[in-house]
Order: sequence, then C-alpha cells, then structure tokens
Amino acid sequence: MSSRDLQKVCVLGSTGSIGTSTLDVLARHPDRYEVFALSAMSRVEELAAQCLQYRPRYAVLPEASLAARLRELLRAQGCATEVLAGERALSEIAAHPEVDAVMAAIVGAAGLAPCLAAARAGKKLMLANKEAIVVGGALFMQAVEQGGATLLPVDSEHSAIFQCLPEDRGTWHDRIDHIVLTASGGPFRQRDPASLADVTPEQAVAHPNWVMGRKISVDSATMMNKALEVIEARWLFNLTPEQIKVVIHPQSIIHSMVVCRDRSVLAQLGTPDMRVPIAYALSFPERIASGAEPLDFLAKPNLTFEEADERRFPGLYLSWQALRAGEGATAVLNAANEEAVAAFLARGLRFDQICRVNRQTLEELHPEAGECASVEGLLNLDARARRHAQALIAALSA
Ligand code: NAD
Ligand code: MG
Repeated sequence: MSSRDLQKVCVLGSTGSIGTSTLDVLARHPDRYEVFALSAMSRVEELAAQCLQYRPRYAVLPEASLAARLRELLRAQGCATEVLAGERALSEIAAHPEVDAVMAAIVGAAGLAPCLAAARAGKKLMLANKEAIVVGGALFMQAVEQGGATLLPVDSEHSAIFQCLPEDRGTWHDRIDHIVLTASGGPFRQRDPASLADVTPEQAVAHPNWVMGRKISVDSATMMNKALEVIEARWLFNLTPEQIKVVIHPQSIIHSMVVCRDRSVLAQLGTPDMRVPIAYALSFPERIASGAEPLDFLAKPNLTFEEADERRFPGLYLSWQALRAGEGATAVLNAANEEAVAAFLARGLRFDQICRVNRQTLEELHPEAGECASVEGLLNLDARARRHAQALIAALSA
C-alpha cells in the first residue's frame, strides 16, 4: 500500500477503554491507517501523550479552557496538532472530508451528534457507543442510509452476529430466525438478589471478564448493558423484539449466536478482548492482526449457559418493554439509566434503585408528537427524561 492509500481514522473518546484499545490496534498497522483526529472529555494529559505518539492533525475537547491547556502542552513539545474546542467541532471533525473512518467510542447520548454527522457524511462508522443508536433509533438508521455510510458494530455481541452473517445485508431477513446475545452475568450473577441494596460502586465496576469504563461496568452489573444491546441489535439487524433472546454464558467465550431458519446455529468465539471486534470493524471485510491471544480450547473451562433471572436482573426486561412501547421510549430508558448510574457512582442512589428509576421514568414520561423526528427533538426528549429521572432520584435519596 502506498501512503496515499492510508485510511484516515478519527477516534472519538480516544482516552477511554475502547479508545485506547483502538489506538493499540491502529499502532499495529501503520501501513494501513493514519490517526487523523483524537477526542476526549477531560483527561488533558493523557490526550497530550496520545497526540505526541500518534501526531493527529486535530484533537478535540469540549471546553475551551481544556483546549487551551492542551495547546500549551503540545506547543511545549513541538507538536503541530491543531486543538479544537466544543461540541460542534466534534461533529465537524467526524464529518471532515478527509476522514475515512470514525470510531464512535464516546460513552452516552453525548455521542449521538457526532455519530449522526459521520453517518450523514457517508463515513465508515465503527459503533461502540451503543447509547447513540439506542437514543437515535430510526433517525440514526436513516442517517446511515441517506449518507451512504457503512455502519460496523464494535460491541462484541453485535460484532459476533455480524461476523456470522454474509456480507450481503439483503439476505439477512430470510436467513435469521432469531439471535441469541450472550451475557456474562457480571459480578453479581450468583449473589442473593435481596443483598443487592448494599452494593458499592467499587464492587459494581469489578467485572469478572472485561476491563471497561465505569458506566458500562455498572450497566453490566445491572444487566442494563444487555438491555441496551437488545435495543442496539433491533436496529443494527432490523429484527423484531421477539427475535432477540439473551442467555447468560459466564465464560464470555461465545460472543453471540445466530439461529437460522433451518435451526442451524452460527456462533463466534474467541478470548474476551475488545481488540478483536475493533480490528474487524477497522478491516472489514478483510481481517488484520488484533493483538489478542488465541483461544486455547484445551485450557478453557466448559461452556455453560443459564437463564437471566428476572428477579436478579429486572433491568434487562425493560428493553423489550421499551421496544414495544414505540418510538422514543428507548431514548427515555437510556436517559434515565445514564442519570441513575451517575447518581449511583456518586453514592446518591442505591444499586437496586437504578432499575426502579429506569422503569418508572419509562412508564411515566412519554414522547410528544414529532419529538423523535429530529435530533433536536430527541435531545429534548433526552433532557426531559433526565429531569424526570433526577426528580425520582432526589425523592428516593431524601
Ligand atoms: P470510557 O469511560 O472508558 O471512555 C469514554 C470516552 O469518551 C473517554 O475518552 C471520555 O473522555 C469520552 N467522553 C465521555 N463523555 C464525553 C462527552 N460528554 N463528550 C465527549 N467525550 C466524552 O468508556 P468505554 O468503556 O470506552 O465505553 C465507550 C463506549 O463503548 C460506551 O458506549 C460503551 O457502552 C461502549 N462499549 C464499551 C466496551 C468496553 O469493553 N469498554 C465494550 C462494548 C461497548
Ligand atoms: Mg457488549
């Protein structure tokens, strides 16, 4: 490959767990990829170190004061990266004419606008930021279609499903009977549900199989992560809620499965390492080295499966409830959950109350006519749902 053929990659959320894993994979393939832009929320020193290592054209931070600090750090080191500030800059960079591929690795609905910008600009959009598609729903998929973007899943379960399906999306509908998303069950799979009121943030973020950001770690403990993934799968694979099933598989070796019309089951397996789905999204339809260890069949434990108990994991079942409730309900559920998780991490809400806040917000707050038709409307709905959840949280902790 000549340097002219290098794919220019923009990494949104580059200081996070997915962001750093993405940079790790990119660093293995300097002959294929060039880092065009990096972005972070607040960790200026880490972002500066990434800029010095990867020499991107741009770095983006939400706040002007943080951007000024980054500029100072980079100038002192003679680094020519141009530093931009603000939410609009994030969307502009994601849609920049020179960008080929965007890794969406921001956490939460905050990632929706740059995802839509990348989709409308027809980029290769590698989606880790599941909240963006849960909030965006039909609007998100329309942006992908209208922009001619290539949407590639990074969530390991969705990457697994994607890897089990042929490249021609037109054949998916006739082929799939249903899909089975696997879930590890998180740190509390065997804990007495009655004792979940005492769970601390430290216990909740200690995941048995994956090292991840704090928000998704709490979501894995409540299984709201799997709930968001059910909704994500509905959109990525154009399925009905009934076509999406979840099974607990504590070893996290089978990353998910497709059950075909003829009952043949296709599964994707591997060591639990996010660099595998990241590498596949980067290189699709080719395959490149990811840095992951090979799966050792002889050393590994048995593959076991369990039902996700509704008493222990009531949050999971809110996904189907939200999907059936119609447009906008999934955005409401996501907003409530983001607020509840933030309150739990700040020790302002009990672990077992997260689901209560989510359920009550979902059932009490409804989208207004036309609110789901534009990104502004969806963000308005998101803000209303957050206020509703905050009021519930305040009442619970009073
Ligand atoms: P993280 O908290 O480690 O990193 C989040 C990144 O986004 C950071 O770089 C942070 O600076 C940036 N960010 C946060 N809020 C922002 C905002 N408001 N505006 C701009 N930037 C912001 O999270 P993570 O674990 O890397 O997860 C990122 C996304 O990927 C989440 O949506 C998560 O659900 C999804 N995901 C993660 C994993 C995993 O293994 N970590 C697996 C599957 C999916
Ligand atoms: Mg996942």
